Amino acid sequence: MPVSFCVYMVKIMVRAALLFALVAGLVTACSGPSALDTVAATRAQARTTSDSAEAFSKQGTILLATNDFSTQERMRALAKQQNLAVLSAYTPYQGSTARIYGSTALGCIAGAVPVTESPDLKFQVWGRGRNYAHPIMAQYLNDLRLRVKAQGLPPLVVGDIGLKYGGPYGPKSNHASHNTGIDVDLPFFFADSADVSSHPDVYIVKGQKILPTFTPKIASLIISATSDPRVDRVFVAPMIKMRMCQLYENKPNNGFLHKLRPWFGHQAHMHVRLKCPSDSPECVSQAPIPEGTGCGYEVKSWFLPPPPKSKTARPAPKPKKVLPQQCQILWSQH
Ligand SMILES: [Zn+2]
Repeated sequence: MPVSFCVYMVKIMVRAALLFALVAGLVTACSGPSALDTVAATRAQARTTSDSAEAFSKQGTILLATNDFSTQERMRALAKQQNLAVLSAYTPYQGSTARIYGSTALGCIAGAVPVTESPDLKFQVWGRGRNYAHPIMAQYLNDLRLRVKAQGLPPLVVGDIGLKYGGPYGPKSNHASHNTGIDVDLPFFFADSADVSSHPDVYIVKGQKILPTFTPKIASLIISATSDPRVDRVFVAPMIKMRMCQLYENKPNNGFLHKLRPWFGHQAHMHVRLKCPSDSPECVSQAPIPEGTGCGYEVKSWFLPPPPKSKTARPAPKPKKVLPQQCQILWSQH
């Protein structure tokens, strides 16, 4: 074999080896690290997913993040985020020994505290022992009492809150909730007179009619009670919601309209429901309110005739109500 041919072949092989090395290098450079990264990311993702599943099963972890009212700054930030006027200081909730089990419609509470009267807070009394509240509700009412006073309004009147260990009020009561110490009824009158305990109800609307008792002071009371980040929602008669929309929809800090919910009854009082406290993981929250003020079709739909009933469609069976086991235990001990 001629030497020149051998040299030629060696050159070709060297070039081929160089080319192979170059291609292999490029493949490694382009796909290797990113592929490895992808695998690592997928594994990390899987880990994160399983972590969140675990976190989700521990509801408290979720609640801590969303219902954190532990500092004044945090509550002010939430108020700003919710487009609420900051009308006074909020008392931070930094935990308590009270625990809520279940929902406000089917639940109970351990460690409720009694809310007592003061010169700025009086009770319209409907029954004995209905003044027990979760500590966050006691703080809310105290803040509201001061907020009302700071605005130059007459003293606040409070109706039913909850029973000492929560639960329903019994068959003679109209309350479908008030089970867990985070609901309160606030009547539409002030404590102008010394004793309001047996004050008759004051209606501010009757059906679609606005009554003269729907004064600017009562409108201020509704705004004060609703403009609070701890408040989940406030139930009022549809005509009250409609009127508040007419008055405040185009005004600043109208985020309270989002929380103001039209509901049956509630013509002589508003029903305030607070959010589940961060340290009651078994407290069941209500479904979130749809976004917006609810001032358009939503409130107007309450005044439309009901749609004709379908003869064939059967209403879906309601899910069976299950009382949390902790409530049975709690009530059996007291
Ligand atoms: Zn109520």
